[in-house]
Amino acid sequence: MQEIHLTAQSHNSVIRCGQGVFETYAPKYKEGQFFIVTDSNVFALYRHLLWETFGININIKILPAGEKSKTHKYLFEILKEMLNCGMRRNCTVIAFGGGVVGDIAGLAAALYMRGVNLVQIPTTLLAQVDSSVGGKTAVDMCGVKNVIGTFYQPQEVLADPRFLETLPEKEIRCGLGEIVKYGALDGGIFAKLTENKNNLKDLRFLSEIIYRCIAHKAKVVKDDERDLNGLRKTLNMGHSTGHALELYYGKKSHGEYVLIGMYFELFIARKLGICTGQYAEELKSLILSVIKKIPYYADLEKAADYAKFDKKNNDEKISLIVPKALGESTEIKLGLEEYVKLLKECGGGL
Ligand code: ADP
Ligand code: ZN
Repeated sequence: MQEIHLTAQSHNSVIRCGQGVFETYAPKYKEGQFFIVTDSNVFALYRHLLWETFGININIKILPAGEKSKTHKYLFEILKEMLNCGMRRNCTVIAFGGGVVGDIAGLAAALYMRGVNLVQIPTTLLAQVDSSVGGKTAVDMCGVKNVIGTFYQPQEVLADPRFLETLPEKEIRCGLGEIVKYGALDGGIFAKLTENKNNLKDLRFLSEIIYRCIAHKAKVVKDDERDLNGLRKTLNMGHSTGHALELYYGKKSHGEYVLIGMYFELFIARKLGICTGQYAEELKSLILSVIKKIPYYADLEKAADYAKFDKKNNDEKISLIVPKALGESTEIKLGLEEYVKLLKECGGGL
């Protein structure tokens, strides 16, 4: 079991990861008042564990599984039930599930009585390596992702790989998308990933890499909690192009689009002479070890249009965080026309 202390401006968080952290650290919450938020899939799989850990009479909101539940309707349902259950200001909201549960439960915790304790217990790989750490909370509105939200640090994150045993392969691949992104930002993670390229889905390997990814993210969040000085922005590598493809095509998981986005953006960085040589080749081969084939996209021009609305862009230009060298990235800005031209050149074949 490993422990990371995140001293953010607003709140301090302790992040515990490794096999056994749930069993060791979750039961203490039954001593106080607590409210669990989860989803229907996770509840079906883990209700016995929840009952064993917290007792039969728990206050719990079970959301329908999936992104569609990340709305103000469900947010207010959670808040209303918390009120009905008599939750007080010193209660703890326990987010037990993937990124969707973490985002909406986090926002509920931030809003209820102007903020109550929050504990994140992420059960997907994506949530363990990424969304449960750093305090971003949100719901979607009018089809716009994460448009209502706030920064709210959990007091504790319990990332236990035991939950990954029930996770479908597609969700593992989704988490690997963000993990490969960390590899492009952190030389130590890159070395581990390339050494274990044929072994990335192994749970023992994942347990080790989860800690490293969280440690990287915690360091970034500590120095740029509110995404102000450009450091936190680096975590968006692959996301500008990935998001645009996700918004236009939307058939794969978020993590897979991040990987495909990285593939395109690496191509651009190579073409512009920013990322060259053996490292560029190794990074490409790492990306392709998770997503075997990059699909051919016929409508890159239309998809690229969505990149215009990315919140990293401060002006007309498209801002991309591209890989540069081992453990190094850089921001580039491209006009839409040039961006589309480069995307088309990369095409998806290669
Ligand atoms: P993400 O964590 O990828 O942001 P979700 O919160 O929607 O997104 O989780 C992805 C899917 O995985 C959901 O259908 C959710 O119910 C399911 N899920 C979450 N945790 C587990 C688990 N430990 N085992 C199996 N399925 C899970
Ligand atoms: Zn992401």
